[in-house]
Amino acid sequence: MANPAILTVDDDPAVSRAVARDVRRRYGDRYRVVRAASGAEALDALREIRLRGEQVAVLLADYRMPAMNGIEFLEAAMDLFPRARRVLLTAYADTNAAIDAINVVDLDHYLLKPWHPPEEKLYPVLDTLLDAWQATPDPAITEMRVVGHRWSAPSFAVRDFLARNLVPFRWLLADEPEGGQLLTAAGVTASDVPLVVTPDGKSLVMPSEADLAAQIGLSTTPAADFYDLVVVGGGPAGLGAAVYGASEGLRTMLVERRATGGQAGQSSRIENYLGFPDGVSGSQLTERARRQALKFGTELLSARDVVGLEAAGSAKVLRFADGTSIAAHTVVLATGVAYRRLAAPGLGELTGQGVFYGSATTEAPSCAGADVYVVGGANSAGQAAVHFSRYAGRVHMLIRGGDLRRSMSQYLIEQIQGIDNIEVHPFTEVVGGSGDDHLERLELRDTRDGRTRTVDTSWLFIFIGAEPRTEWLDGAVRRDPRGFVLTGPDLMAGGGRPPGWALPRDPYHLEASVPGVFAAGDVRAESVKRVASAVGEGAMAVSLVHRYLAAQ
Ligand SMILES: Cc1cc2nc3c(=O)[nH]c(=O)nc-3n(C[C@H](O)[C@H](O)[C@H](O)COP(=O)(O)OP(=O)(O)OC[C@H]3O[C@@H](n4cnc5c(N)ncnc54)[C@H](O)[C@@H]3O)c2cc1C
Repeated sequence: MANPAILTVDDDPAVSRAVARDVRRRYGDRYRVVRAASGAEALDALREIRLRGEQVAVLLADYRMPAMNGIEFLEAAMDLFPRARRVLLTAYADTNAAIDAINVVDLDHYLLKPWHPPEEKLYPVLDTLLDAWQATPDPAITEMRVVGHRWSAPSFAVRDFLARNLVPFRWLLADEPEGGQLLTAAGVTASDVPLVVTPDGKSLVMPSEADLAAQIGLSTTPAADFYDLVVVGGGPAGLGAAVYGASEGLRTMLVERRATGGQAGQSSRIENYLGFPDGVSGSQLTERARRQALKFGTELLSARDVVGLEAAGSAKVLRFADGTSIAAHTVVLATGVAYRRLAAPGLGELTGQGVFYGSATTEAPSCAGADVYVVGGANSAGQAAVHFSRYAGRVHMLIRGGDLRRSMSQYLIEQIQGIDNIEVHPFTEVVGGSGDDHLERLELRDTRDGRTRTVDTSWLFIFIGAEPRTEWLDGAVRRDPRGFVLTGPDLMAGGGRPPGWALPRDPYHLEASVPGVFAAGDVRAESVKRVASAVGEGAMAVSLVHRYLAAQ
């Protein structure tokens, strides 16, 4: 991080040089002296410093400058660095203007030119101002910053993407001073959000996920066009397949559309994964797996959506949403499942604006003190409720059944029972949501007598089971009526091999209806929906990949 700046602005080159020289002589070891020849130039420099998250301690501005005088400059600079101390350089004749400026720009000092000797006239003033600034400096910021609107779905999508990819960032509201300062510094307005400012000061206005991925150092372009193994989906199953594939010498590519970790990465605490007796956060577990996959040489492609699969001879071609493609000898489909949407009037329009699917870890800190509603009675909803209880005033779990026993693990039920601010509402469903620009109230129905009631809340988190979203595999591999990929013995249910199957053997256990294409984890029909089983299937799929390749 660079030293804090002392900025001097004067249109007279000789004076400007003299000020900078005197300041640098005494403070150059601790402060960076930035020199500008006009108000506009100085503001540009300040914007850049602001975007980089660096600090400005003192602004020294000459009063008489063409185009923008010193007072006008200091006034504009206050929007960017309100805590920087402000000094106006004036000639004797302008003393009155300087006195007026004390009110206009909250001037800390006016300095009469010439200030020689600086030991007497300049340094004592600056010493005092720098001491005062150091007591309450503008914070230096080294992480990414996101400026947006509280209830904007695109702003949420950016935060969610960064959070899922474990990128630390500061979230700033566009209508609060710091957010406004960053918008000004980037030269945009509150309607251009989300704005992302990188630690090195680059601003991205309304970035796509691919822009963000590239910015945080994730690769979005394949290095080759042919691989031994392409794994689609970076959840536990895909990461498992990538670790085993790459470590066993296969040229392995892992493609992930959002963030590695999948559903497991969203789990605030996984208590039942082997080897972690004290539990482990899903993001920690899957981040380690990601690093392990990379260590073994997996190529990881991020923010890329696979939208098509075709067999071309013995090769398999995977098409991306942008029309490009890659090919491989073998493919492991590990695309998991995504939350089912809750079809109640009003909720669709408010998704991302108070209505969320999953997202417990991203949004929990924003719910401080509020009433939060969680829909669902399975482990994912239970974990979310426990996580929210640390932030929210009260967490309301809405379940359609009479209690949690049929759908939730006993350890979680006990945990929930021990938390005072979680309340379970049995026989309750959400039948509507409304609000102006964000969720403000929910309509709830008692499933026993049909009576409805309205509650005020801005937070609804939905965990109501999941579906595989495999429409893109239509016509490519066989799926069950719910969209889960059929493999091995399930393909032989009718007594014969699947139509089009040309090999003189049955499909291997995790093999889909196209030889060399395998499915692992939640996306596979009849799979157990657990982290451990997904990882295990990923590993097992790779051993079948070897068997397939050996027979080619
Ligand atoms: C909140 C929560 C808590 C949970 N807690 C536990 C627990 O405590 N213990 C436990 O055992 N299980 C738990 N589970 C279940 C467990 O997380 C899942 O069973 C497991 O993550 C399944 O892994 P997967 O790799 O098959 O799929 P997923 O985890 O669903 O990963 C699939 C990945 O594929 C990506 N993808 C999908 N389609 C495409 C495409 N077309 N192109 C590119 N990428 C694509 C997705 O973005 C996703 O990252 C929990 C689930 C949730 C949601």
